[in-house]
Amino acid sequence: MLHLTGTGAGGLDRREAERRLELYGPNELPPRRGRGPVLRFLAQFHNTLIYFLLAACAATWLVGHTADAVVILAVVLVNAVVGFVQEGRAEHALNAIRAMISPRAGVLRGGTRTSAPVSELVVGDLVVLSAGDRVPADLRLLDSSALLIDEAALTGESVAAEKAPDPVPPRTGAAERTCMAYSGTLVAAGRATGVVVATGAATRIGRIGAMLEGVQRITTPLLRQINRFGRLITWIAASAGALLFAFAMLARDFAWLDALLAVVALAVAFVPEGLPAVITITLAIGVRRMAARSALIRRLAAVEALGSTTVICSDKTGTLTRNEMTVRRLYLPGRDLLVEGTGYAPEGGFADAGAPGGGDRPRPPEPVVATVLLCNDAHLRDEDGEWHAEGDPMEAALVAMGVKAGGAPERLRSAHPRLSALPFDARHRYMATLDQWPGENRIHVKGAPERVLDLCTAQASPDGSAALPLDRGAWEERVASAAHRGERVIALARRTVPAETRELTPGALEDGLVLLGLVGLIDPPRPEAVAAIAECASAGIRVTMVTGDHAGTAAAVAGMLGLAESPVVVTGAELDAMDDAEFAAAADQAQVFARTSPEHKLRIVQALQAAEHVVAMTGDGVNDAPALKQADVGVAMGRRGTEAAKEAAEIVLLDDDFASIVAAVHEGRVVHDNIRKVIAWTLPTNGGLVLVAAAAIAAGLTMPMSPLQILWINLVTAGSLGLALAFEPAEDGVMDRPPRPAEKGLLSPFTLWRLGAVSVLFLAGAVAVLAYASGRGYGIETARTMAVNAIVVMQIFYLFNVRYLHTASMNWRAVRGTPALLAALAAVAAAQFAFTYLPFMQEVFGSAPVPFWDGVGIVCVGLLLLLLLEAEKAVLRRMGRFEELRV
Ligand code: ADP
Ligand code: MG
Repeated sequence: MLHLTGTGAGGLDRREAERRLELYGPNELPPRRGRGPVLRFLAQFHNTLIYFLLAACAATWLVGHTADAVVILAVVLVNAVVGFVQEGRAEHALNAIRAMISPRAGVLRGGTRTSAPVSELVVGDLVVLSAGDRVPADLRLLDSSALLIDEAALTGESVAAEKAPDPVPPRTGAAERTCMAYSGTLVAAGRATGVVVATGAATRIGRIGAMLEGVQRITTPLLRQINRFGRLITWIAASAGALLFAFAMLARDFAWLDALLAVVALAVAFVPEGLPAVITITLAIGVRRMAARSALIRRLAAVEALGSTTVICSDKTGTLTRNEMTVRRLYLPGRDLLVEGTGYAPEGGFADAGAPGGGDRPRPPEPVVATVLLCNDAHLRDEDGEWHAEGDPMEAALVAMGVKAGGAPERLRSAHPRLSALPFDARHRYMATLDQWPGENRIHVKGAPERVLDLCTAQASPDGSAALPLDRGAWEERVASAAHRGERVIALARRTVPAETRELTPGALEDGLVLLGLVGLIDPPRPEAVAAIAECASAGIRVTMVTGDHAGTAAAVAGMLGLAESPVVVTGAELDAMDDAEFAAAADQAQVFARTSPEHKLRIVQALQAAEHVVAMTGDGVNDAPALKQADVGVAMGRRGTEAAKEAAEIVLLDDDFASIVAAVHEGRVVHDNIRKVIAWTLPTNGGLVLVAAAAIAAGLTMPMSPLQILWINLVTAGSLGLALAFEPAEDGVMDRPPRPAEKGLLSPFTLWRLGAVSVLFLAGAVAVLAYASGRGYGIETARTMAVNAIVVMQIFYLFNVRYLHTASMNWRAVRGTPALLAALAAVAAAQFAFTYLPFMQEVFGSAPVPFWDGVGIVCVGLLLLLLLEAEKAVLRRMGRFEELRV
């Protein structure tokens, strides 16, 4: 097989791989074309409101008011450009993140096992597949064990197919070629190696014209809610506008064009058309901040869910602990050995736990060494004196121990080739290999002690020469005491079988395994996880450990992590015996779930969700995918996780660290706050503007602002002030409050109250300014210019109030502001000065210069508004109603 692709037994050499990549191109499918920029820009105009504006533009132009028509058109264009740019930025942020989680595949090149980006695979590469991998290219299998491949991506058939290297007759249909693994399909179980026979568009999936998953739609529950809300508002504005138009025509005899313009301007002012874009930007900024803290968002909706997460269910090994394992003790028949040394460096010896120091240096017997080295897929790599693990860290620790005991892994492995294997699986919790021996074969097993003890009928004698009856009770006690110290315990066993046995089946383990001993490994807790767990406690978030490890070990590690003094531990076996009600109660109370299998994770998520929890669940294996999908926030491990887990998850952690989940929750809460702030600012300021104009029409006064001036306010503030809130940093104490209840409605009682109160205050401010202007005998132009400035100034001061929803806004940090805020303020101030003092602008908008001290007075009106609203915040907080109103 290999000669056809010019591959050696150790894979292609690096140079050849590069040459072929150069020659044949990357292993990529043509990406689905996204909407082009032109279409995306045009889509900005597809909006009821814009249609109104365009109609008004046409009407004004037809009757010869060219200036008005141009201004309206400018408003439309600026709106479209702002929307276009913001959408583009959000999409860009998400795509950049997606590029960071591009998949890798295990390959054998130049005789060493490494991993390479899937896009760099070439024909002839030797690829190693294990459970949870997406098959990276079309492969001819070379060897496999218990390989099951889910070809749903290709055939739609969701039952996983058995695959093996045995050749099939020529001209077998593609679907029945069981010696092939096709690009894009998923390894459901087992492991295999294969040689790449086709890449990119030449693969089967490429030839049937399948495309990569297209650009994801940017949408979340909240955005959908906002869009619904926006449509509702638009229709309210349109019908209210029609009524107002009729009223203005009939009762107040406005000229029809003036009335139409006024109504259109008001409708535009009332509808928060910029809101979805600003919220998308807020979410995208959250995505970027999370990425900076090692949490990559795959689905935007997760950003929202993170902000209201109430329970985090986390793996233990590698997420709460470092996954840097070291063998600490060996529990052999009749004696305990302490293992010296640190890390993966295979340096150090053994000491008798009972009598340290004196006498001969003890050594583990040969069968123990053979078992740990042969029933093992890991390698150690020496990089400038630093030892690294290739493969499973626990297995690497066992290799290090085997070398300390005098074993030579490579020599042993080539002297005793593996004939067959049962790979480790989180459901069965053991691994077994069938290895060739002179004149016979041997089965080597390692796994969770209960499982292995179940399979053993005997134990090795202290000198290793004979098999004695199994003293199960004594071994169980040793397991319990090791677990109590926080050690991860693995049992070792073996048996000999006749030379004819060349295939390993679970049945072959059933009788006659001889227990060799136990291995106790330590895996220190991550210090950051300890701090993060404490942070969760103050943030009202429950942390639950879900692990496949022993109950005693899990409880001990939970204690070290500060998860609980004496945690409530529930085991998978106990869960299985429970009915639904008991299960729900257990899910609610347990801090540790031990000896669970991936199926339990799904049930735990469902039980917690039934109790109204918003659940974040971590996972890494192929079997974790259903639980990750079910969870509100599925969290996959970036390093350890399989492709299947990553695809099912909403978030991928670059560093596999629990603390990164908590950091993401923190950022999620900030996003929530900022969205609240954007809404709490946008709606009342829109409302205020409309109330001022509507009151004037209703009272039969001249309009306090011309229609064009209303459009101007909308134009100036839409893309600047509200957007500044998207960039707000975290307020103090973000992680000192309880989680926000999952989204109830867009309009919280607080927003509604603010909508009313602020609108009325805007009205009062504008009326005061107008009354003052008419008292001073100013002309209508100056009065209107003052009103416009007063509204904008009030919007600015209100923005300062909204920036701090939880604390007073009057502090030094608030005064300094953020770069985004300062930029927005500078832009708005410049625009207002231009509006007021530039002759050209005065001509277009009918504005007039405002005397300096009157300008100061207008600023004072805004300041007064801020003081009033700060007083309101203080009173609400004093009354203890604040949190209640806020949510
Ligand atoms: P965890 O939640 O700690 O990641 P796992 O599901 O990985 O738990 O492992 C569960 C148990 O299975 C371990 O406690 C150990 O006894 C056993 N085990 C884990 N990895 C292996 C392996 N590579 N070979 C044999 N047994 C293993
Ligand atoms: Mg594990």
